[in-house]
Parts: sequence; C-alpha cells; structure tokens
Amino acid sequence: MAEAENFIQQFIDEDLAAGKVSAIKTRFPPEPNGYLHIGHAKSMFVNFGTAEKYGGTCNLFFDDTNPSKEKTEYVDAIRRDILWLGYRWEKEVYASDFFDVIYEYAEKLIREGKAFVCDLSPEEIKATRGTLTEPGVESPYRNRTPEENLRLFREMREGKYADGEKCLRAKIDMASPNVNLRDPVIYRILHATHHRTGDKWCIYPMYDYAHPICDYLQGVTHSLCTLEFEDHRPLYDWVGITLGFSPKPRQIEFARLNLTNLVMSKRYLKKLVEEGSVHGWDDPRMPTLAGLRNRGIPAEAIKDFCARAGVAKAQSECEISYFEAVVRDFLNASAPRAMAVVDPLKLTIVNYEGSEDVDFEINQTKEGAGTRKVRFGKTLYIERSDFSLDPPPKYHRLKLGGYARLKNAYIVRCDEAVKDENGNVTEIKCTYFPESRSGSDTSGIKAKGVLHWVNAETCADAVLKQYDHLLRDADYAGQDFSERIVLDSEHIFSAKAEPYLAECAEGEAFQLLRTGYYKTCRDGGKLCLSEIVSLKDNFNK
Ligand code: ATP
Ligand code: MG
Repeated sequence: MAEAENFIQQFIDEDLAAGKVSAIKTRFPPEPNGYLHIGHAKSMFVNFGTAEKYGGTCNLFFDDTNPSKEKTEYVDAIRRDILWLGYRWEKEVYASDFFDVIYEYAEKLIREGKAFVCDLSPEEIKATRGTLTEPGVESPYRNRTPEENLRLFREMREGKYADGEKCLRAKIDMASPNVNLRDPVIYRILHATHHRTGDKWCIYPMYDYAHPICDYLQGVTHSLCTLEFEDHRPLYDWVGITLGFSPKPRQIEFARLNLTNLVMSKRYLKKLVEEGSVHGWDDPRMPTLAGLRNRGIPAEAIKDFCARAGVAKAQSECEISYFEAVVRDFLNASAPRAMAVVDPLKLTIVNYEGSEDVDFEINQTKEGAGTRKVRFGKTLYIERSDFSLDPPPKYHRLKLGGYARLKNAYIVRCDEAVKDENGNVTEIKCTYFPESRSGSDTSGIKAKGVLHWVNAETCADAVLKQYDHLLRDADYAGQDFSERIVLDSEHIFSAKAEPYLAECAEGEAFQLLRTGYYKTCRDGGKLCLSEIVSLKDNFNK
C-alpha cells in the first residue's frame, strides 16, 4: 500500500490495520438543487480519489431529501459533469430509494422509546433548544408512549396533519453540550411533490438522520464530508449506534475549497442565473463545472489543481491566480499557437509585392509539434498598441523610423503614419528587408520587438471575448455579495484572426500569441474567440 497522502488516508490505514474494514467504499453526495461547482470537484477528488487509491469504489449518491428544491434537470447536469471530469461511479443511488427503509427505522426508534412525535411548532422548537452555554428545555410531548407515538407518526404519514403541525424528534439529551443532540427533528411534514417519488410521501426525513442510514445501506465505509458537518458527527454516530449498524460507517471531515474572486455557493449561483447577471449556469465566468468546461478549461487541469491544493482539516482560501496558473501550465504544454489581432491597425509594406508562406511554430514547448504555413503579404494588421506616435523610452515596438520583427517573417521599418481628419492613425506604411527573413536573417538589423500580425487579405473577422472575475477581490471581502459582484465582466471586441482559426474545429484551445489562451466557437455562424485564461497573471492590472 502506498503511503498515506493526507489525514483521511491515515485514518483509513488505521481502520484497515485494526481490521475494522476491508474493502473501502465512499460516496459523492450532491443534492440535486443546482449545478456542481469547482468546490464539488474537490469533494469528488476526495471521494472518488480515496476509493481509487485503495482499490475500492465510490457511489454517486443523490441526497434528495429536500423535494421542494430538487429537479431532474440538475440530476442530468450533475451526471454529465462528473463524467466530464473523468470519474466513474459504481452505483447511482438516491436517498429516495431508501425512503421505505428510513421510515421503518423511524418506527423502530419509536418502538424502542428513542423517538417521539412533537407538536411544538418549528419556532417553538428553535426557542427551546437552548444556547451554547444554556441547556434546552424538554418538549412537553417528550414522554408520550411508544404506542401513541406510533399512531401519531402513522397519521403524519397518512397526511392527517399540515406542514409544521407535528414532527418526529429523536429522544437524546436536551442538556447535551452539542446542540445537534438536543432532541433533533428527524422527520418533518412537507406536502410537496418529490422529483422521483411523486406524491407518495408527505413526510420527509431530515438530512442528519437519513444520511447515516443511506451510507450504511450502501455499504459505505468512510463518509467523507466538509467541516461544517463536524458538529453533526455525534448525531451521525448516535443514529448508527442506536440502530445497531455493523460495521458502522465512519464520518471524516475535511476543509472546503474556497477560491478568492469566486462565488461558491449554489444559492448565490442560482441567484446570478435567475437575475440574468450571467447567461446561464454554463456562462464561462461561472465557477460551475459546466461553466469551466464552456470556458475551455481542461478537466485534467481541474483535477490537478484539486490534487495540488491538498486535503486539509484547516479552513483556508486559495488564490484564484493559483488556479489560473495551473490551467496556464496545462495549456502552455498542449495548446497550439496562432495569431489574432484584437484592435487592428493596418500595416502596408510599400516595397513588398505578392505573397509567400512562412513557417510558424505550432508549440515550441511540445517536442515534435512542428510548424505550419502562414501566408504573409503586403497588407497586414497589427495591434494598434504595437505602434506609437509618441513612444516612451525603450519602446521596442513600432514607432516612426523604428524597427520591429513581424513574427516568423521579416523585419520592417515604419516610415509613415496615415491619419484621418481627426488625427487618428488609420494605417502605417513600412519598408521590409528581404534578407531579414526569420530562420535565415543576414540583414544585421537589430529589432528587439517581435509583433504578431494577420494577413489583411486572408484573415477572418472574429468576435473576441474577454472576462473579468465575477467577484471583486479580497479588499471587498466581508461586503455584501451584491456589492462584490462585477456585472460588467464580459468584454467583446471585433478582431481579425488567421484564416486557420476559422477552419478549426469548434471548442479547440489556442494560445493567441501575446494575447492569451482562447477557445474557438461559433456565434451565429461567426468565428468567436473566447478567453480561457490570460497569458500572464494580470491580477494587479
Ligand atoms: P453549496 O453550499 O454550494 O450549495 P452544498 O454543500 O450544499 O454546496 P451539496 O450538493 O450538498 O452542496 O454538496 C455535495 C458534496 O460536495 C458535499 O459533501 C459537500 O460537502 C461537498 N462540497 C460542496 N462545496 C464544497 C467545497 N467548496 N469544497 C469541498 N467540498 C464541497
Ligand atoms: Mg449540502
């Protein structure tokens, strides 16, 4: 067995050594009330990854005990996203598959005097729970007989009572220092249609009660969840011990993944979608897996990021720039290079006629990637920002009388700037030097700047999209979510692209030289270049 890589694996090793378990079984437990986000990728990394490490299996477990918020649309999206990340579950299981058994266990608790039907309203229950320093007050219904409780519980199931009129509570200890053990509600009345069981039930089990039962029935050995459940572990254990589960699943908590500049709660993500602040759950700015996929981020980069971020017990926040650096590393190694000009300025080479192919390196970091041909010509486009009438010192791009190299082609000298009636430069005229061709330069001319370009005669019109982070950075932390949101975070430019980009398959990732990593797509038939990640960390821009 390979050495433990984190504290969860250490616990598992202890359990294996003590003979408490043999085969390892975990589950990934999304609630189908929204789309998965990058935080869930971390949970999958932990659940699927741990099972894989021990040659065990992981189930996809839909925690669907909350009928009013759950939808089949979300179930389908969740499946798709898990498969995209490359994880395979053993069984697909729903909490609702177990509703009958969960109900039977509740009757068992009642018969054993360990649960009672309570008539207090949800508000009254809350008010009598006590505080961290004061014990709670016992319900006046706490000492009903098992017979009476059973009758009332069955009536609850039959629909005799309205929502909130009664509930079933575990009879544990109103003076427990752990508030979760103060006679927690384990069943509530909810006249709601469930996305799978329809109107069969009007009572639904609470998460804290249902989860340990579902884990046990699936044969889960280690129930891996996030830290907010740490205080619920005594209740998880109470359910397992009281119902006599053997072997009892072990709950282990780890820290959530938090990323700066990202909203990571389904509730807020849903709000963004519903209020139209983004184009949908898969908007490229969204931290959902659907959004990241649409953005062009490779699944492998997300998994690699989760591995590098590590599994810890202590809560922390990870810089978004770190995630972007991981993505950039992946794309740098894999993405072919291409040229597109975002804010085009026409460049005419006065002493050049005709056209020719030049060799363009596909990816210099990838061995054997080779070259492809790019058509060079008399009329080109360069970035407007690569020419200056009033250059600062040490300006290596084009200025009047200055030299620069056109990538993979020739050195040119800028001789003239053509202006319109408002004084705006509309074109620059240059001279090229035939002996300066890349790969066989004998010109002896020094040109420090290397500019990307496209051929004005062959280039394709493109829409280029760039994105800002959806959430303002740490300086705004603690402020209300709505004040941190950047509504104007999608920027659209009309660009000129190499014709090669227009011919590529949709969804391919490229490094646009000096611009960033972009994905090709079609926007109403038109070529669209959509930013995946900037070329360099432009965080403090
Ligand atoms: P949200 O707050 O976004 O709604 P959730 O915890 O309610 O998240 P679930 O569908 O219940 O969403 O999550 C499924 C699993 O993923 C849970 O075990 C949960 O702990 C885990 N998870 C959710 N967010 C994160 C995160 N940011 N980092 C690690 N694990 C997470
Ligand atoms: Mg949850």
